Amino acid sequence: MATKICTIGELLVEFLAKNSNQRFDETGEFLGPFPSGAPAIFADQVAKLGFPIVIFSCVGKDAFGKMCISRLKQDGVIIDGISSHNKANTGSAFVTYRGQNDRDFIFNIPNSACGLLSFENIDAKLLEDCTHLHVMGSSLYSFRVIDAMRKAIDIIKKNGGTVSFDPNIRKEMLDIPEMEQSFDYIMEYTDIFLPSEGEVSYFANNPKDSESDVAKALLKKGIKHIVVKCGSKGANYYGLDEQGNLKTSHVDSYPTEAIDPTGAGDCFGATFVSLMLAGYSVEQALQYANASGAFAISKRGPMEGTSTMAELERIIQRKK
Ligand code: ATP
Ligand code: MG
Repeated sequence: MATKICTIGELLVEFLAKNSNQRFDETGEFLGPFPSGAPAIFADQVAKLGFPIVIFSCVGKDAFGKMCISRLKQDGVIIDGISSHNKANTGSAFVTYRGQNDRDFIFNIPNSACGLLSFENIDAKLLEDCTHLHVMGSSLYSFRVIDAMRKAIDIIKKNGGTVSFDPNIRKEMLDIPEMEQSFDYIMEYTDIFLPSEGEVSYFANNPKDSESDVAKALLKKGIKHIVVKCGSKGANYYGLDEQGNLKTSHVDSYPTEAIDPTGAGDCFGATFVSLMLAGYSVEQALQYANASGAFAISKRGPMEGTSTMAELERIIQRKK
């Protein structure tokens, strides 16, 4: 059976502060709405590469929701898993940049349509048809969605499928107690782990452990592939070869003008996961994922930098 990927979580619109260092407590100009949400960006990227992907989410019966759905549909995402909420509006987020990589968000998620997402909103038949689930840590914003995620993981795993996990920790969300607890459960079932450089220590047994210590311990626990995303420094891979020996590699990033880092990690993850599931080698999947991250940061707007295989091949060829 061909692989069909699914993801569950926030689908929202985002507004970008027009200027860097623009404050949230002073009146200023914003660009937007842009379709956004980490799992939605992930899904859009998978679809643009030509692989089947379902997103389970909820929007309001408003223009923002319509905009999100029509973008995903246009790019080839299977939108049958998106329901419309009668009583809540589509989620939203505001983002402002301080320097190149420092961002502040104001999220309007908990009381939005996607904030109310629960297992009831997940169409069992659509889910049963999927062989891989991608989990974004940023989607674990309520006990309802955590419950949905656990149940979905159980179903996918029971059917012999696989799971990928990107912690995507947002400092604005860390005060949600259920979120931290759910990480342990998800890690137990994770096959492909995609943290950022700054998130690795979060998964260490000992705070002094190096990145490779943490990776080795996680591989021992059963995770099969670990890719640490390091922004402009590229990415590090940890896995085991057929003999069970540690296999590591590094890819330098593709030089790119950094316009907007939001979404780079999601596009990178989507490309790596899609290509691994499609049978590409780790080296090839890393190379394309790296190009996908570079492409994403060169475009303003969270989902504006998703790319096709042809666009990624152009970046890879340019470097050769
Ligand atoms: P986020 O903080 O948004 O969750 P992330 O940590 O998940 O981001 P990053 O490491 O910022 O993801 O970026 C993912 C990938 O995108 C990198 O591993 C790299 O391949 C590419 N990338 C990111 N920033 C740059 C850059 N400035 N130049 C070239 N490529 C980049
Ligand atoms: Mg990320």
